[in-house]
Amino acid sequence: MSDKFDIVVIGGGPGGYVGAIRAAQLGFKVACVDANKIFGGTCLRVGCIPSKAMLESSELLHQAKETFKSHGIKVPQVEVDLETMLKRKNRVVQTLGRGVGSLLKKNGVEGIQGVARIVSPGVVEVTTDDGSRKLQAENVIIATGSSPASLPGIEIDGTYVGSSTEALSFDSIPKRLVVIGAGAIGLELGSVWNRLGSEVTVLEYLDRILPGCDAEIADAARKILLKQGLKFELGSRVEGVEIVDGECQVKVAGRDTPVTCDKVLMAVGRKPYTSGLGLEEVGVELDRRGFIVVDEHFKTNVDGIYAIGDVIGGAMLAHKAEEEGVALVEMLKTGVGHIDYNTVPAIVYTHPEVASVGKTSEELEADGVPFKAGRFPFMANGRAKAVGETDGLVKILAHRKTDRILGVHIVGPHAGDLLSEAVVAMSFGASSEDLARICHAHPTLTEALKEAALDVDKRAVHA
Ligand code: NAD
Repeated sequence: MSDKFDIVVIGGGPGGYVGAIRAAQLGFKVACVDANKIFGGTCLRVGCIPSKAMLESSELLHQAKETFKSHGIKVPQVEVDLETMLKRKNRVVQTLGRGVGSLLKKNGVEGIQGVARIVSPGVVEVTTDDGSRKLQAENVIIATGSSPASLPGIEIDGTYVGSSTEALSFDSIPKRLVVIGAGAIGLELGSVWNRLGSEVTVLEYLDRILPGCDAEIADAARKILLKQGLKFELGSRVEGVEIVDGECQVKVAGRDTPVTCDKVLMAVGRKPYTSGLGLEEVGVELDRRGFIVVDEHFKTNVDGIYAIGDVIGGAMLAHKAEEEGVALVEMLKTGVGHIDYNTVPAIVYTHPEVASVGKTSEELEADGVPFKAGRFPFMANGRAKAVGETDGLVKILAHRKTDRILGVHIVGPHAGDLLSEAVVAMSFGASSEDLARICHAHPTLTEALKEAALDVDKRAVHA
């Protein structure tokens, strides 16, 4: 096969493979290189997809144990078969991984399994199982993503201290699990093991959970998760972990007694993955945190080398990387490509989910933007009552003068799916009145959005 391409994409995650497919659709000759046999990146192999599989399985267990009885369904004995649960999760990953491989093929992208290194601008060396290949390309796109970060002096040993990767595959249910960090990973995987029977304590440095999320919504989420059995110790800065006689001792700043447990989940963020790519040799500039520096066209300081996704910073989200991959290759083809970062949604898949788009109250206050807020609790939504999922609320923020929607924040049943309406509305520059005047089917959870929009002008009907 020819080793000359228009574009070589390094990294087969959502940013890389979606960008590669779009580039092929636009007529480019494209190769996508990934070190892993399964294309799909962190998201598919050890991130979004397997965590959603485990969240679903563990939620079903929770429902069988706790919720069914309120519906008048008696289940005599419910047991966890962790091995089968993990196998199911692995099957989901493998099936989707094969799907990504087929999509690349179908679109004419050459998927290459191997480790890529940029040897000079326009030349990428790939070490495969069968030897080495030199790929030539006018444009090289780095889409290598990120890897779990740890705290200084704490090693992720994979046995006692695990990252999200290990916490997706613990082969037994830890009796006591300490989660360091109350971000998306800590709360999602903390929820999984809490439902499976672990005693879960979340140690969070800040005095709140979910940094970046609207504070009122984050606080409502914390109260809901607390009821589910997650313990939160806020304002707890973890300084170290020691393993003593097979037990983890987690040292928190200012406390004499460590928090003891059987396993620790390190969930304090992720760092850009750039090692071994030859970036230093070709002179690609990184910032002080190790992210690749790019301009508004995703171009690095070296001609012909571009970067997208987690490796350039910003929200570390699969769909943000996808949008960047598409925008970049469209720019390469046509000179134009655009992403509205303000309408990139963010969802935490706890139960209930936490979903946000746009600005938070805190951000608007800090920017001095005049705004009004409408709220609607799921407790007052007929469908939520009928399905027994009444925790949470919808909060809509609109400009005080123009009424344009500036942010929508939801904690509640199917919040992630409900948010799509808000994303569409904001993408079209809708006002809260636009949303309030649109007919929403009854009885649906979406009515909570309409009511919150009405509440922006204090005219909700069912509150
Ligand atoms: P995060 O950055 O979202 O949260 C890390 C938390 O760790 C913060 O609240 C921080 O205050 C806390 N922390 C830092 N140092 C600490 C210390 N010494 N002691 C106690 N707490 C400390 O990170 P994450 O949850 O690991 O997620 C990593 C990235 O992956 C994020 O960008 C996240 O958005 C993304 N992600 C998203 C999803 C999703 O959208 N559903 C799921 C998983 C991961």
